[in-house]
Amino acid sequence: MTQTDQFPPKDVQCKCGNVLTLDKQSDWCTKCVRKVFYHQKNQRRHQFNTIYLAVMALAIVFFLVYAFIEMVIIPMSKL
Ligand SMILES: [Zn+2]
Repeated sequence: MTQTDQFPPKDVQCKCGNVLTLDKQSDWCTKCVRKVFYHQKNQRRHQFNTIYLAVMALAIVFFLVYAFIEMVIIPMSKL
């Protein structure tokens, strides 16, 4: 199953109030350029993925900062 699969046209309301007629899995809102999904379930999954990626990015940044302090700042302060 790909993104280009045809769906029966369905009216989906965007969060900004604009109503789009979707005939595919997802499309960009013509008013606010937000992603609008044919199935609300996909929208929640998309939001979850976005939050998950943000948390992962934060965790990586914190780890790098921690590793930097542990391996560079502490040995240097002991000299
Ligand atoms: Zn919109």
